[in-house]
Amino acid sequence: MRRKMAAGNWKMNGSSAALGVISELAAAHADSTDTDTDIVICPPAPLLFRASELARSSALTIGAQDCHSAPSGAFTGDIAAPMIADTGATHVIVGHSERRDAYHESNSDVRAKTMAAWDAGLTAILCIGESAATREAGNTLDIIAEQLSGSVPDGTTGGNLVVAYEPVWAIGTGAVATTAQINEVHDFIRTRLIQRLGDEVGTAIRLLYGGSVKPGNATEIFQCANVDGALVGGASLKAQDFTPIIHALI
Ligand code: 13P
Repeated sequence: MRRKMAAGNWKMNGSSAALGVISELAAAHADSTDTDTDIVICPPAPLLFRASELARSSALTIGAQDCHSAPSGAFTGDIAAPMIADTGATHVIVGHSERRDAYHESNSDVRAKTMAAWDAGLTAILCIGESAATREAGNTLDIIAEQLSGSVPDGTTGGNLVVAYEPVWAIGTGAVATTAQINEVHDFIRTRLIQRLGDEVGTAIRLLYGGSVKPGNATEIFQCANVDGALVGGASLKAQDFTPIIHALI
């Protein structure tokens, strides 16, 4: 039985005032042993230390939104995975489509970042997903296969990697994928992971859906067999929106 995961990606939103959301969620999930659901909030990097302190001793865990592939060095403005771990954070998102797009991150860049995350003891939440043009051209599964083979490293386990399927056209648009579309891609990802990594590891890796997940559509999405949770953008910024999504999983 895979543990569920509700992960929130705040993107470039939230000042120190937003730490109240972390406190609220930590208080609501104060007992770290009472749930089969992992709750992860990924705030902007300047908030990681304080967010980790606020989440300590609760079921809430903290993640970063990106890391560099090197452990240290002359990379002005970048953040290394060991620095993220040093804040008390336990997870890091890699390969988000906004970074693949705006910073031209390739599948091999994402693979290197994933391995850097593991070296620092972090769990990587690795994002894949097709653009609207790719879907319209009927190439969704080809691109998903390419992203999986190019960015998922050897050495993957159910503990060190979570895969998030985020169709680019559904991110921040309100255009959520249909359950038929989600099932098709998630079942395909599961099959590919099993083919490559074997039954035990391929079955243990959690698959999240992301793209306009809201309190109103979460329950339906979570009914898909190979959906183990969600990576949530806009609706993770307020506890009143994120809490019903967590509850739809528990
Ligand atoms: P939205 O939930 O705002 O569509 O964002 C999804 C996302 O990109 C999470 O990483």
